[in-house]
Amino acid sequence: MDLGIKGRRALVTASSKGLGRGCAQALAAAGVNLVLNARGAEALEATAAELRSTYDVQVAAVAADITTPEGRDLVLIEAGQVDILVTNAGGPPPGMWTDWSREDFIRALDANMLTPIALMQALMPGMMARGWGRVVNITSQSVKSPIAQLGLSNAARAGLTGFVAGTARQVAGKGVTINNLLPGIHATDRAISLDTGVAKAQGINREVAAERRAATIPAGRYGTAAEFGAMCAFLCSTHAGFIVGQNILLDGGAMNATL
Ligand code: NAP
Repeated sequence: MDLGIKGRRALVTASSKGLGRGCAQALAAAGVNLVLNARGAEALEATAAELRSTYDVQVAAVAADITTPEGRDLVLIEAGQVDILVTNAGGPPPGMWTDWSREDFIRALDANMLTPIALMQALMPGMMARGWGRVVNITSQSVKSPIAQLGLSNAARAGLTGFVAGTARQVAGKGVTINNLLPGIHATDRAISLDTGVAKAQGINREVAAERRAATIPAGRYGTAAEFGAMCAFLCSTHAGFIVGQNILLDGGAMNATL
């Protein structure tokens, strides 16, 4: 399918690895020029070089912490005018609800709520003025189905979801759509780190922890970054202009619900 976005320009934050990288790759395959970002320059440059050499698109890379105002300024200067924004950042650490301090909550809110909001505030006015734009926020299945030990994530992402629900309806009339993609477990470094935590707590090895987790998913496996990226690229396509303010779960059927 031609996604109709060849030649568009996208900013994908936190995109040297994992789900962000999957989104960047699928957009590059659709002919979209990219600005990539991550903190670590080495993996970021490697990803940028691979996308440049595989697809006929321009790829810029900005090594910066997207959760800080300084990092966002650097990224936004390089990004300039973009048609597509995919927001992503690392997830907060797991823990016990009794242990989190105000500072822990502020860090989680900064990373997973206030950063995507700041990026939307910076880039959507230009999209609206030009009459076309796409925003996809990578959130989590925890928005629909809480993961108890990820309370910091549950809380911060619920805040972003509330913001998007209202704002998506305010900007849709100007040709700009905002939607959220909610990953269930996907085979990325984040999954390795979560499985390592479970393995440690249960005194088993990580492979066993991953097998047990996969067995709880109707699809019987973890998702892939490529599958996730393909959905993201579709939401950024010309075909998705009537999809507004949705929260789309990609979890292999893990959440047991009718609607
Ligand atoms: P990942 O494989 O660990 O990749 C994270 C990417 O984000 C890396 O490129 C990392 O590079 C970059 N990054 C992290 N913190 C950053 C920051 N402050 N500024 C800029 N770049 C940053 O993670 P993932 O699995 O793709 O997860 C992406 C998001 O989806 C996370 O918020 C995660 O919590 C959420 N999620 C993932 C899953 C899953 O199963 N994978 C499930 C639910 C939700 P650097 O470290 O070099 O910065």
